Amino acid sequence: MTDPRDQGCLCQACGDRYKVDLMLPDELWARISGGKNLLCGRCIMTAMEGLGSFAALFIRTEVESAEELRMRHIRRALDDTPMPA
Ligand SMILES: [Zn+2]
Repeated sequence: MTDPRDQGCLCQACGDRYKVDLMLPDELWARISGGKNLLCGRCIMTAMEGLGSFAALFIRTEVESAEELRMRHIRRALDDTPMPA
């Protein structure tokens, strides 16, 4: 059985493992992601604070299965992979 501490995603900014994935609008993600595909909530909030403007965001509760989450991350990584010349 998998140790629960080993579950989740690895943040590409701080290296921490996280289990709550925040979905941002593409436009906001492009401004804060720094070209990374996976960021933990703490790094997302730090990056958004760095934008310097006041914002109020609403969080919707929408649960996604682990498999749906995995497939979405794969699609995002493929979308960001440059096509060979
Ligand atoms: Zn992080």
